[in-house]
Amino acid sequence: MLNHLRSIVQEVNAARDLPAALNIIVHRVKEAMQTEVCSVYLRDGLGNFRLMATDGLNESAVGQVSLAAGEGLVGMVATREEPVNLEKAIDHPNYQYFPATGEERFSSFLGTPIIHQREVLGVLVIQQVAQRRFDEGEEAFLVTASAQLAGVIAHAEATGVLKRMGKNVQEARFKGVAGSPGVAIGRAVVISPTADLRGVPYKVCADVDAELAFFQECLGKARIDIKNVGKQLESRLNAQEQALFDAYLSMLDDASLGGEVTERIRQGVSAAYSWSEVILEHERNFSSMADPYLRERAADVRDLGRRVLAYLQESSKLNPEFPPNSILVGEELTASMLGEIPSEFLQGIVSVLGSGNSHIAILARAMGVPTVMGAVDLPFTQIDGREVIVDGYRGLIYTDPSDNLREQYDDIRAEELELVKGLEALKDLPCETPDKHRVPLWVNTGLMADVVRSLERGAEGVGLYRTEIPFLLRDRFPSEEEQRITYREQLEAFAPRTVTMRTLDVGGDKPLPYFPIAEQNPFLGWRGIRVTLDHPEIFLAQVRAMLKASEGLDNLRIMLPMITSISELESAKTLIHRAYFELTEDGYHIELPPIGVMIEVPAAVYQARELAARSDFLSVGSNDLTQYLLAVDRNNPQVADLYQAYHPAVLRALHQVVRDGHSQGTSVGICGELAGDPAAAVLLMAMGYDVLSMNATNLPKVKRAIRGITLEQAENILDEVMAQEDAESVNLCLERLLADGGYTRYLALSRKDGLKSGSH
Ligand code: PEP
Ligand code: MG
Repeated sequence: MLNHLRSIVQEVNAARDLPAALNIIVHRVKEAMQTEVCSVYLRDGLGNFRLMATDGLNESAVGQVSLAAGEGLVGMVATREEPVNLEKAIDHPNYQYFPATGEERFSSFLGTPIIHQREVLGVLVIQQVAQRRFDEGEEAFLVTASAQLAGVIAHAEATGVLKRMGKNVQEARFKGVAGSPGVAIGRAVVISPTADLRGVPYKVCADVDAELAFFQECLGKARIDIKNVGKQLESRLNAQEQALFDAYLSMLDDASLGGEVTERIRQGVSAAYSWSEVILEHERNFSSMADPYLRERAADVRDLGRRVLAYLQESSKLNPEFPPNSILVGEELTASMLGEIPSEFLQGIVSVLGSGNSHIAILARAMGVPTVMGAVDLPFTQIDGREVIVDGYRGLIYTDPSDNLREQYDDIRAEELELVKGLEALKDLPCETPDKHRVPLWVNTGLMADVVRSLERGAEGVGLYRTEIPFLLRDRFPSEEEQRITYREQLEAFAPRTVTMRTLDVGGDKPLPYFPIAEQNPFLGWRGIRVTLDHPEIFLAQVRAMLKASEGLDNLRIMLPMITSISELESAKTLIHRAYFELTEDGYHIELPPIGVMIEVPAAVYQARELAARSDFLSVGSNDLTQYLLAVDRNNPQVADLYQAYHPAVLRALHQVVRDGHSQGTSVGICGELAGDPAAAVLLMAMGYDVLSMNATNLPKVKRAIRGITLEQAENILDEVMAQEDAESVNLCLERLLADGGYTRYLALSRKDGLKSGSH
């Protein structure tokens, strides 16, 4: 059964469009379950469930029969959101007869809802003449099939919306997760890692003959490669294995893959896209074969596909084209991809994977670029060059927006600009409450571009310099001297203000391209301090570079990520002291910098007192702390709703850390994204946090929030908030209490109210 299901899903995945996908579903499910009818009903724009495909009922009824939610047996399955299994459907009070279907012959009925992301997309039904109840195994199979097919159907529906548009361009809306606030309107530029067959954007080619010649040229290069590899391995392979290389070469011929691709290019589709489509089709065909030998050939096709694709993409990589209003779109964008585009051209970002707490979203917030993450149903390869609106407040993307929608978003942008103008005036005013309580506002940095923005916005120090960012932007570890130069720039730019440099924090969702870490569970694996303590040579080089860079400035603090136990802190301190003594012996005039601990895991919350007693400062990394306290992967859009920064458990942990840190006379700050949320900042101030460190974009907003409320008022709000039992009530309580703060419109925007949604 499992094999059946796997091959059905694979086949459906390979379908050209939604109708083809639905037809495969009804035929293959009917066959696998040996029934007489299988049908799919999908919810239409009006919320009715329409018969979209059937194998067994009259074909002419397709598109004609439609039931409202709750109406008939199909409507009942949809409203109940669970299977309905009936021996004699006709006897059920909900039964409705549609003569067009010819279903009167069928007695038994089993219907299961097709649910994607909590929404009922449709209903999958099987029927039989014999009067019998489908058994448990059959019911379980249909439920499993519906669950697996839901995502595929949602995706095919979304792709269909785009493909249908053709000449009559039609607005479409896709949901994601809010990544970085703001609205951007521009042209989609789809980028993907080189030779990623699934990420090739759909493009047309203007000059078919030139494209055909280019394709042949790339095939020629690939042929030479394959022959060379074959020659190199000649002595080590037997005749049968050698034959594989000949098979590869013949696949490139006109009579095989080459010919199919040529055909598509002739229809005006770019060589890279045509090639990737043909390869993916063949790969799927091979993977679904029963014979294990043939199944394995899928890997050969894929390998060949990547090889040729790399050549096809080579020239576009050398001369990437970015319009001045680029919206960067990709399946899994990385920091180095961001680096490819001139920052003045970058208006917005859309990532199919990841969520609001992924590092790419954090970078986007630092740069003030509106971003939507986790747009899992966006057929991203189809939208290159199209006009797109990115709504980073509500996590929505619109393709080919109507004039009406664009105007609404233009209004929001105008309002944002007004808001920013008002905030600029705050730059030189201190961050203090009307009753003169000072709250130092620091910034989180990583890119050089952050420095100017931070200083312009009145940052009083750096609470987190993410040193992994310069590491991520290279293709090898930077040398000690290269690091020293980079760190010196940071320290100099902010001097005499303090700069808190975090030691290398890789692993989790921040793999270094040149230092791969393959793990089942990267967030619970080898990351942060665990990596650097296992590689003292990397740690020591980094610390020495920091210390040398601080000579004569003495504004450095060193901070350790992902500390889980006292011994890790002690080991790291020993190494730092060693580096310090060695350098002073070598004649450097450096002061030993304060050493601090990030509180990012629950273990550190419970040992905050002991950690505080052994360090110079604590800084809460609320991004990771929230993920570990709530057991919610910060990158996974599927559980993004469960990542609740205002969860009472998180708030209590934050409160506890500040009390325990202060009990040892140690200063406590916070450098997670929460500190940059104006409402949260008010709470953190009331809890007693000594420093709030955030992205430069949000700094003025936080300053305005704090300047508008007395410490006493903030403490009263905190008391009420801490009495709440879940994140929703904390949010409601905050909204009510802060309604008079003068930034309701901003809060409303950031809390995702506002526009009426568009079509789709
Ligand atoms: C955090 O976890 O809150 C933090 C500041 O570190 P990062 O987001 O870089 O993991
Ligand atoms: Mg962290």
